[in-house]
Amino acid sequence: MKRERILIVEDEQAVARGLEYALKAEGFEVYWARTGMQALDLMRREQPDLITLDLRLPDVSGYDVCRALRGEAHRQPILMLTAKDEELDKVLGLELGADDYVVKPYSLREVISRIRALLRRAYGELAVQAEDEIQRFNGLEIDLTRLEVRRDGVVIDLTPTEYRLLRYLSARVNVPVSRSGLLEAIWGYESDVNSDRTVDVHIRHLRQKIERDPANPRQIVTVRGVGYKFQG
Ligand code: CA
Repeated sequence: MKRERILIVEDEQAVARGLEYALKAEGFEVYWARTGMQALDLMRREQPDLITLDLRLPDVSGYDVCRALRGEAHRQPILMLTAKDEELDKVLGLELGADDYVVKPYSLREVISRIRALLRRAYGELAVQAEDEIQRFNGLEIDLTRLEVRRDGVVIDLTPTEYRLLRYLSARVNVPVSRSGLLEAIWGYESDVNSDRTVDVHIRHLRQKIERDPANPRQIVTVRGVGYKFQG
């Protein structure tokens, strides 16, 4: 089996080494970039399968790196390592498009389980999906063949996570899905105190993109005390 390749973007050598050691022990191939510029360079050259991205770097910020990668259409999962979770909204948002985050100080076990989950959903379920079908709901089209979503014929630019979230909900029309159910299905791990926010932030962004009136969502509605459901 091909070994999956992880790019660690981290300026602190001790932190990077710890992560590198743990990842190699898990069988991953590891690249290390100390600066944002090195990270972009390595991404273009090596095309690793996943990036762990520290926000505080000596040259440009992790935000800039993330934006630049998405701007260059690199679609690999990005796991942000953030110091504060107030930045969560921005990190997971439209602007940056990271897939998940871990707040420092983190446990290596936690980071590795997030990495495994991200790789599984990025290269597992989506890769084998080959249904020839378009779902249609009041002007919203979910094209399962082209992995594309359109509103009134106009393509909506969703992040891979947003697409999976929408796809999961729209496969269960009118069925309430709990936040923990979504977490397990989309992110691949069990819920904890912070993780419900991850779901809520992604739902909010998804609504901003697909709803005609995001303030009064008609497609993805909140089910009080449960989570969300997709209305057909
Ligand atoms: Ca740093």
